[in-house]
Amino acid sequence: MKRIVVKVGSAVLSENNHIAQERLEALVDFIARLKKRYEVILVSSGAVAAGYTQLKLDKKLLSNKQALASIGQPILMNKYRKLFEVHNLLSSQILVTAANFTTPEEAQRAKDTIETLLVHNVIPIINENDATATEELVVGDNDQLSAYATHYFGARLLVILSDIDAYYDKDPRTYDDAKVRSRIHNIEPRELEMEASPNHGFATGGIVTKLKAADFLLKRNGAMLLASGFDLSDAYSFLLDDEHSGGSYFKSKEA
Ligand code: GLU
Repeated sequence: MKRIVVKVGSAVLSENNHIAQERLEALVDFIARLKKRYEVILVSSGAVAAGYTQLKLDKKLLSNKQALASIGQPILMNKYRKLFEVHNLLSSQILVTAANFTTPEEAQRAKDTIETLLVHNVIPIINENDATATEELVVGDNDQLSAYATHYFGARLLVILSDIDAYYDKDPRTYDDAKVRSRIHNIEPRELEMEASPNHGFATGGIVTKLKAADFLLKRNGAMLLASGFDLSDAYSFLLDDEHSGGSYFKSKEA
């Protein structure tokens, strides 16, 4: 069975200081459908946003952000557990830091756990261990973390479900005539130098962190789909009907 990593961002999982329950349900339904065809590893952000629904700390301060992640992570996992249960699926939590990805040998430890979970049909849900990650150990954004997870945990495809529904030829927030770049074979260094510009208060990345994730995978024979996390129809078509109707697909010509 093909192994894939699905990554969902905070902007999709939260709205107006609440967990976006309907979108979370739609995501879990989607993953349950994917399970019939793929081994699925989920990388989920949203811990800090979930924490903020309970306690309004100023997240600009690192210690507050870490406290919010510590409050929010179990809330998020509890929601996932209940929703996956409806599909008779067990879910599990794996918190990682950059140290887990320094070498293939380091990554192997987490991979061993993931292999066991997948054999038993459990959904591993990965997030960064924000509560204790120090500056040297922090990956910082889950776009890159999910690219590492894809590569090191033996998946060939990363699916990023985001408030950014595709990679455009120019900024769609500024230009009405921006067009989707649907197939990308390689990324130019200058594309990675743009400033990160998240659209949402709890989001860490923007298009640049997604391009960095794609670049990491393109250089290692991997592939990535960037599609909307608000409307999952493009992701459904791509993964379950083998139809590329929307979103951007990054894959090198050789891979
Ligand atoms: N780990 C952070 C969280 O769960 C999110 C990091 C990111 O947005 O990429 O809130």
